[in-house]
Amino acid sequence: MNTKSGAILVLSGPSGAGKSSLIRKIMDDIGPIYFSISTTTRAMREGEADGRDYHFVTKEVFAQEIEEEMFLEYAVVHGNYYGTSLGPVKKALKEGKLVIFDIDVQGHDAVQNRLSDITTSVFITTPTLQELKTRLLNRSTDSDEVIAKRLEMAKREVQRISEYDFLIVNDDLDEAAAVLVNIAKAARMKIPTLQINEFVQTWEEKA
Ligand code: ADP
Ligand code: 5GP
Repeated sequence: MNTKSGAILVLSGPSGAGKSSLIRKIMDDIGPIYFSISTTTRAMREGEADGRDYHFVTKEVFAQEIEEEMFLEYAVVHGNYYGTSLGPVKKALKEGKLVIFDIDVQGHDAVQNRLSDITTSVFITTPTLQELKTRLLNRSTDSDEVIAKRLEMAKREVQRISEYDFLIVNDDLDEAAAVLVNIAKAARMKIPTLQINEFVQTWEEKA
């Protein structure tokens, strides 16, 4: 059964686990994708660009977009607002693309509630908490205070791994990327319930 409708791949995991690195690595190997660019009220980091990494907006603009029901989901993470805009996601799904989200555990919850039958989810983490700390320190994008906050948050996030379809321990980047390629390809093949029902019906009717 070949389906042309799109699918969703949710990636979650502690900040610093390597989600962005992995996405960059597999991007050209998994067919047509749309990487959802979230909107956030957090400050832009050095090396980030507006419209590429995030849509950076003020709290007022974010509040207005909530009011206008522009988000598929939104959440407060580490004290800042983050949200996924619905419009581009709908368009990409219609075009049959694999839509990739880098969102937190709350966002995953919301997406599962609304679109579970086309969603595959992966939790990505480091082998240990200590390794996460090392990577955040090496990345040098956050202050000590922000890093401490992210580590505390990480301890809570890993408690929710069982809510995900897959777990990737990002120890060796190449190995983790190879696993993610397989999951992304399988995610694209996930069939919505409606299509399964249609298939069963015509399968029975056809001679
Ligand atoms: P996230 O997007 O999850 O916040 P990043 O992709 O920014 O994480 O990775 C955090 C830091 O860890 C970066 O400096 C990145 O180069 C490094 N990193 C990612 N994967 C690995 C790995 N497997 N081994 C060592 N360092 C890694
Ligand atoms: P960072 O500030 O490191 O870019 O992201 C912090 C956290 O926010 C990460 O766990 C990331 O997955 C999450 N995040 C990014 N965009 C969104 C979003 O649109 N919705 C939700 N719920 N979480 C997001």
